[in-house]
Amino acid sequence: MPFECQSCWHVWQEEYVVRHIEDDHGNAGEVWLRADLPIPPPSPGAICPRCGCQKATTFPDGYLSRHPELIPPAEPVVPDATPLLSPVPRPFY
Ligand SMILES: [Zn+2]
Repeated sequence: MPFECQSCWHVWQEEYVVRHIEDDHGNAGEVWLRADLPIPPPSPGAICPRCGCQKATTFPDGYLSRHPELIPPAEPVVPDATPLLSPVPRPFY
């Protein structure tokens, strides 16, 4: 399930399993699972892992596949390895 922070626009995804259940009285419901543990359903109010604000919102599954520009690059940006050129000391005569 994709999430987007409405404060810093950070986009991330968390894997959830939604299991539809029906009790003995015919009441349908949903159970949210993450790593096989029941969790409260994610909702607006998910905590942004980047800025910690609680104004994150969710996208429907598949949203990011239509908006690939929102997906952060998987590889961290490698800093330029070129060493800074230090001024060569002038020979002193
Ligand atoms: Zn944020």
